[in-house]
Amino acid sequence: MQTYAYGYPRLGENREFKKLIEGYWQGKVSEAVLQQGIEALEQSRLMTYSQFVDAYPVGELTLYDHMLDTAIMLGVYPMDPTDLNAYFELARGADALPMTKWFNTNYHYLVSRLSPETKFRVHWNKPLQAYSQKSSGYPYLIGPYTFLRLSRGLEPEQLPTMLEKLTPIYAEILQSLKDAGAPYVHIDEPAFALDVSDADVQAIRTAYHTLGQVAPILLFTYYDSVEFLPTLYDLPLAGIGLDLIHGKRNYDHIAQHGFPSDKILIAGIVDGRNVWKTDLATAAKRIRNLQAQSGATIWLSNAAPLAHLPVTIAPETKLDPALRERIAFAKERLHELRLLKTLLTEGETDATRAWNAYQHPADHWYSQAVQQRVAALQPQDFERELPYAERDALQRARLKLPLFPTTTIGSFPQTPEVRQMRQAYRTGKITSQEYETYIQNQIRELIKFQEEQGLDVLVHGEFERTDMVEFFAEKMEGIAFTQHGWLLSYGTRVYRPPIIYGDVARTEPMTVKETAFAQSLTQKPVKGMLTGPVTIIAWSYVREDIPVEQVAYQIALALNDEVRDLENAGIAIVQIDEPAYREKAPLKRADWDAYFRWAAQAFKLAARAKPETQIHTHMCYSDFNTVLRFIDWMDADVITIEAARAKGEVISAFEHYNYARQIGPGVFDVHTPAVPSVESIETVMERAVRVFPKQQFWVNPDCGLKTRKWEEVVPALQNMVQAARNLRAKYGA
Ligand code: GLN
Ligand code: ZN
Repeated sequence: MQTYAYGYPRLGENREFKKLIEGYWQGKVSEAVLQQGIEALEQSRLMTYSQFVDAYPVGELTLYDHMLDTAIMLGVYPMDPTDLNAYFELARGADALPMTKWFNTNYHYLVSRLSPETKFRVHWNKPLQAYSQKSSGYPYLIGPYTFLRLSRGLEPEQLPTMLEKLTPIYAEILQSLKDAGAPYVHIDEPAFALDVSDADVQAIRTAYHTLGQVAPILLFTYYDSVEFLPTLYDLPLAGIGLDLIHGKRNYDHIAQHGFPSDKILIAGIVDGRNVWKTDLATAAKRIRNLQAQSGATIWLSNAAPLAHLPVTIAPETKLDPALRERIAFAKERLHELRLLKTLLTEGETDATRAWNAYQHPADHWYSQAVQQRVAALQPQDFERELPYAERDALQRARLKLPLFPTTTIGSFPQTPEVRQMRQAYRTGKITSQEYETYIQNQIRELIKFQEEQGLDVLVHGEFERTDMVEFFAEKMEGIAFTQHGWLLSYGTRVYRPPIIYGDVARTEPMTVKETAFAQSLTQKPVKGMLTGPVTIIAWSYVREDIPVEQVAYQIALALNDEVRDLENAGIAIVQIDEPAYREKAPLKRADWDAYFRWAAQAFKLAARAKPETQIHTHMCYSDFNTVLRFIDWMDADVITIEAARAKGEVISAFEHYNYARQIGPGVFDVHTPAVPSVESIETVMERAVRVFPKQQFWVNPDCGLKTRKWEEVVPALQNMVQAARNLRAKYGA
């Protein structure tokens, strides 16, 4: 029995990766120092692997993104791969590739645009280069199917032909690796865990039939189960890596049908996506079951790349010790693999016993009151008192908004000054009184600004928030924060996911002070601004001792208390942001109904307000065709969505769906500094007016304005209000 681990974080224990690369961008780190630093980081990653596990890949490191590296490897971009500036230009220059979420994780990859005419060649043999330098580990590659499936520009029916085109290119790389003496090649194919059409399965069979004969392949799938395992079994692969944590059907399949004895079963048995320590006894039992079912050699491995975890729990000295004891980050997962191997080959030892002695959740993590509240929920607690049409009439009478009401999504520029003041407050350099006064002044100026601009529904600006999830998580019981638990979300950008470990409750109002203050300054309605339960869950690590929907309902109840308090403070509109509603959806369509059912229920529980209170929700993506039905389930009065970048597509989704509520398709893109012209905004609005009844239509940007500069925001909003006025004149009464 062997152990194998992959995907260890590249960030480094002290975020060395980020510091080096950003230093290089700022001209503070020379190319030579960058290369040495990255080399040292890689060396230390490989050392860590070798301290704990028997085998691991080499060449996983990237200076920005694996998918970009794969595209360059395959000749999609003709740049010189040793030219760092050309590389970073593709990653983050003026014409950078677009980014999108990697499967249902919070990592964003760079998306290549292909066409049926794209010609491939071996342009940069990155795996060979990495392997030749180290001569240890198994060379690492992203597989051809995953690369194609996650690129844009191809119709689904073009994938088989493209895969056929890529096969000789991959074969050439595999041959070079074999010639260099690599005992195995590590290929990642997480896209095998998506819904894969029959035609694609056939094409995968043909491709890997060829590739498997060139070099011994260890093929890794993860994030979910593979529905065509029997096809993989038939292929000439040396080993298959399967996620046995988030791919429950993988486990059931092997337990029922066995596993081919000529292949290595690389059993993903420790979690790569969540932080709770592995119960070694149960894991050992599962492995023994699999052993009994198949004559195959089993390697113990992680179930998904370890990069979804922070590096190590070791420096988290401020965490509740009872909680710290229960957590395993990436390095601790390696340790678990070693312990599991010991347990399976030698039996229990002091070390394995000590590891498994963690299962004593502390009493103070739980709240009877919260649990009883969730247990007592009745179906009507999830529904508003009146149907949308009747609420709409009451809200219109109350709000008296013009046709095409204008608003924003919530945040305004987080200037260096705002960030400095927050930092000063956090580190005790200014008092809470001084900080509050500062925030109040910001709000006062913003209200004045919005009135001057002529916006119809105002916001308080979110100056007191660093991050839309962190802000609420910090104010809720049952959610913990690490000090060093950083993850990469893309490039060198990092964030620290909260850990939801106990029953969640609100101890006091979270947003009422700022919102009510803003409302006291104006006659126009100010929107309350909350982050929804699904998004809080999606961007955190979540406890597993109760079903995830129970966690969602706890959070939703806390948010609903907030909604009620806002109502009592005179707030007429509350926006509950759910940007993660779509992205948290399971990889396979067959699992969607079950997911969206609880996700929508949680939202509705949070949003249960008086009929005359208008509930908005905001989602920032444009891929709506497949999810409109589920968005309807949320029963929000108004949704605001991203639409400017892909206007045609988004609005056309609604042409085929009778969406009866109000909608604000974003009329300008907040991700670029370019100021939108009145005409460009009118174009998006005219497009929408043709699809939606005009009374249903709101005018707003794509998303929050917090990453923009004031110089950009002022003219952009001016133009937006002007465009709305022009259309009001044209279409009004
Ligand atoms: N209200 C938030 C903001 O404006 C929404 C952000 C988001 O959807 N990602 O910043
Ligand atoms: Zn958004």
